[in-house]
Amino acid sequence: MDTNHTVNTFLEYFRERGHQPVTDGSLVPSPGDPVLFTTSGMHPLTPYLEGRTHPLGRRLVNVQRCLRTTDLDEVGDDTHLTVFEMLGSWSLGDYPGPQSLRWGHQLLCDGFGISPDRLHVTVFGGDGQVGPDTESLTTWEGLAVPVELTGEENWWSNGPTGPCGPDSEIFVWTGHTPPEGTPSTDPRWMEVWNHVMMRYRRHDDRSLEPLRQSSVDTGMGLERLLMVLQDKPSVFECDVFEPWMRTIPDLWDLDQPSLRVTCDHLRSSVVVIGDGVRPSNTGRGYVLRRLIRRVLTTLWRNDSSRTLSDLPIHLLEHTLERFKQRSDVEGVREILLNEEDRFSTLLQRGRRVVSRRRSRGPLSDEEYDYLYDTHGLPRDLVVTLLSESS
Ligand code: ATP
Ligand code: MG
Repeated sequence: MDTNHTVNTFLEYFRERGHQPVTDGSLVPSPGDPVLFTTSGMHPLTPYLEGRTHPLGRRLVNVQRCLRTTDLDEVGDDTHLTVFEMLGSWSLGDYPGPQSLRWGHQLLCDGFGISPDRLHVTVFGGDGQVGPDTESLTTWEGLAVPVELTGEENWWSNGPTGPCGPDSEIFVWTGHTPPEGTPSTDPRWMEVWNHVMMRYRRHDDRSLEPLRQSSVDTGMGLERLLMVLQDKPSVFECDVFEPWMRTIPDLWDLDQPSLRVTCDHLRSSVVVIGDGVRPSNTGRGYVLRRLIRRVLTTLWRNDSSRTLSDLPIHLLEHTLERFKQRSDVEGVREILLNEEDRFSTLLQRGRRVVSRRRSRGPLSDEEYDYLYDTHGLPRDLVVTLLSESS
């Protein structure tokens, strides 16, 4: 099952059950939204989960690209990417949670052909304020799926106040031996799909008010699903990464973690640029700058002559196409190359300045400010250069 077939199977399954497709959204949230990047499919739908009427109705489905800066340190493991795609379905005050779970189970097992005995789920087991999510528990028991009850790990909220509720996560066994343990005891259980029962609103005083209309919000990582369907050991071996993982090793000799980070960050940078972000020293542009600089630092660690101008254009095209972005591919390439030039110049200047100051011991805040204001050297870069030379 390739990516397009997988996405279409998902969309079609929910369309047949009355869900209207919402157009794919940009990584950049709408103006006025303080969040840097869209982190889940539900993010653009927040007002509707809070009760506003959605023009497309009460059952929705979509594929949303997401970027999580909070996952940057995990990128390079088998399951975390910086930019990934989320398959989502919603009941806005329409059908209840158990229906969503039953459809989820049917789609995974009958639609995608995952063997039911490779599934395990987690369910909210209750805390001091709210009892266990017995509805979800009995639904899963009825489907004969093993359940692990947990505490706050299965309580979803988007901040200290606002809509929230218990969630139920579906895990797939990725081991090569028969399934054992539970999601919290064996990491070979990989989370693929989260179903959130949006039942409450939390107030400033931490009290919970039941929502007039409870909703269901689900999100499944496309690349993790592909990893299962294509029987691959990590998200990096599934088809969306194939051109990257095939081409980059011929270009640069990298160890496995560096190869994964390089492919992930370059691909993510292309998507972020495709959504209109440009490198800068603040906000979204700074996230992009950090992604590109991390790639360059990785590449130059062993060979400072490596350059992004060797990157074949088909990789950029493949990614822009996957995300249906209409950016001019040469323009995207130019942005990457300009950023490389800029970083290279900055590094040369930085090394000179830092080597002159190193002998005077640790730098004070004033000195960091001076290096930034006068030489344009950001603090994190100076810290790297100091550790390089120590
Ligand atoms: P994990 O604990 O594995 O990081 P999560 O609890 O952060 O997952 P959710 O916020 O529930 O995940 O997101 C819904 C789904 O999106 C997950 O079940 C997973 O399939 C996918 N997902 C989340 N983060 C990533 C990521 N960084 N890369 C790829 N897929 C992801
Ligand atoms: Mg996470």
